Amino acid sequence: MMQDTSRLAIHTITTKPWPIEEAIDRYAQAGVKGISVWRDALDGRNAAKIGERIRSAGLSIVATVRGGFFPALSEGERQARIDDNKAFIRLSAELGSPLLVIVPGAHPGQSLAESRRQIRKGIEAILKEAETSGVRLAIEPLHPMYSDTRSAIVTLEQANDLCRELEHPLLGVAIDVYHLWWDPNLPREIERSGKGNKIFAFHVCDWKSPTTDFLNDRGLMGEGCIDIPGIRREVEKNGFSGFIEVEIFSTRYWSMDQQEFLGKIVEAYQRHV
Ligand code: ZN
Repeated sequence: MMQDTSRLAIHTITTKPWPIEEAIDRYAQAGVKGISVWRDALDGRNAAKIGERIRSAGLSIVATVRGGFFPALSEGERQARIDDNKAFIRLSAELGSPLLVIVPGAHPGQSLAESRRQIRKGIEAILKEAETSGVRLAIEPLHPMYSDTRSAIVTLEQANDLCRELEHPLLGVAIDVYHLWWDPNLPREIERSGKGNKIFAFHVCDWKSPTTDFLNDRGLMGEGCIDIPGIRREVEKNGFSGFIEVEIFSTRYWSMDQQEFLGKIVEAYQRHV
């Protein structure tokens, strides 16, 4: 089924070789309507000016990516991360981003339970800044293979539980098919997220089989084994109508001509999402 690109957004990391200025222009020319801005893409730039540039190109800023990474072994380091998240929330507001994606974090030198406790405390500590800046926060559960250093939150159920415990209107979840496709409880948990109006973001790419690198070998939609249209139906059935964000880390695609890759992204979106 071919579909228009009115809900297609791309994460700047997906076309990492392009500086953000070029990504903005090329996305807009290709009919992409939204952009999610990774923090490194703003290095050395004025966020407000980049925000203006994005809007005048006719693109919507979907989110900034990625805050979080709260767990650490020392109190001092944990506080530094909280401060850094607050700064990123303010930067998001300057850019004009309505949403900051939170990758929870984990530390291999302590238990997952302890990391989860620190994640909860970390998010709690930045909610006030989110209110002041008017930026929503989306907790993104990651695939369990990243439990050592990237996320002690590995299921949508855990993210939903955390949202319930902290109960705040600016706090919700990001549903990324790459991280969650394997979970037999996914439909149930998507329904639960939807009931609380907590589905803040939806990320797509594909799980290649076999996959050669667990970080940087993500596939284009349709290249792997994830039922992306099926998961999309679930999130939409449960109230989500926002942008569909393409987020691909791939050494293979980063090494090819990025304009050609962008063409492939648009086509894969039209056919396989
Ligand atoms: Zn994601």
